[in-house]
Amino acid sequence: MDMTFEEIKALLAAEGAQMELLLKRALEVKLREMDNYVHLRGLIEFGNVCEKNCLYCGLRRGNSKVGRYCLTDDDVLSCARLAHELGYGSVALQSGERSDADFIDRIERLVKEIKKIDGGSLGITLSLGEQTEDTYRRWFDAGAHRYLLRIESSDETLYYKIHPRDSKHSFRQRIACLESLIRTGYQTGTGVMVGLPFQTIDHLAGDLLFFKQMNVAMVGLGPYIPHPDTPLYRFKDLVPEAKKRMDLTLKMIAVLRLMMPRINMVAATANQTIDPQGREKAILAGANVIMPNLTPGEYRENYFIYPDKACVKDTPDQCQTCLDIRLAAIGHKIQYNAWGDSPAFTEMAGITGAHARP
Ligand code: SAM
Ligand code: SF4
Repeated sequence: MDMTFEEIKALLAAEGAQMELLLKRALEVKLREMDNYVHLRGLIEFGNVCEKNCLYCGLRRGNSKVGRYCLTDDDVLSCARLAHELGYGSVALQSGERSDADFIDRIERLVKEIKKIDGGSLGITLSLGEQTEDTYRRWFDAGAHRYLLRIESSDETLYYKIHPRDSKHSFRQRIACLESLIRTGYQTGTGVMVGLPFQTIDHLAGDLLFFKQMNVAMVGLGPYIPHPDTPLYRFKDLVPEAKKRMDLTLKMIAVLRLMMPRINMVAATANQTIDPQGREKAILAGANVIMPNLTPGEYRENYFIYPDKACVKDTPDQCQTCLDIRLAAIGHKIQYNAWGDSPAFTEMAGITGAHARP
């Protein structure tokens, strides 16, 4: 559905019964267009070394308090095999941003190795930051088929309030990367944090129009969570309280579901961090993807993007049982052993060949 900037703003400002009505409409649209399935991406937090200095993120280069790690190839492949055994259907490899040749080669090799598991039965999403188009192409050719790169804010002025203004943090470059990803053939996902200092309803309405204009296949939206060891923390008093951030995130998901009915949308872990029911609420507002954490326990606490991250201590088995029960309680079910591609993308691209679901 097409919506104007003013219509989107009005929906994002909805409260009480009006907000409930918005969420109800979004759920109806999702169930009609996508069914009640939730797709899983087993999240492998590959490493927390990062060349960048985003002002909100605990992994930023300038944070000397975090112990840095990088998983071994064996660790990554064990996680991927576990995802396969658990029937997740897909893995997502995420890390701090690195552009050295060793990193690029390793990811290419690992993607190829993951593809060998059970004849290529696992789908692969990457979330490894800004890279050259050549690198994106190499990883795509190796077998990755989805890529998540949040724009963080589609408003250039706000972007530079939450990133240093230097060549490593260029708003134009971030957009150019999204364009490269789409050109390369990835199901491309983007997103923003909700509840940032200085962020207004106008910014958020602009973000939704940006997603539509870019015609992305996936969106990951989550509340911003202030991290004490980052420069943005000094503006924490400008951050809306948790309930307001949660409600705004839910309204963003719901409005986007009305605007782009057949895209994949992630119920981010950050939702559950600020509200114990946050992930279920996001699913009921229109999200349809969850990323259970498969990172080996000893490293998880170092992937410290923001404080009090949910499920850090859960084992994969506990996580799966918990998810099955929680989703059944809200009338949803996990679609096991499937890639769970975005119907919006597959219909548009007429996907065939190496990246089609076997
Ligand atoms: N380095 C890659 C990148 O930036 O695209 C991927 C890893 S990065 C940790 C993944 C996402 O974490 C970012 O896109 C950002 O939106 C989110 N994030 C970082 N700090 C956050 C915070 N304090 N609160 C909520 N989300 C945060
Ligand atoms: Fe690095 Fe990504 Fe965190 Fe920015 S958001 S500091 S690129 S890990």
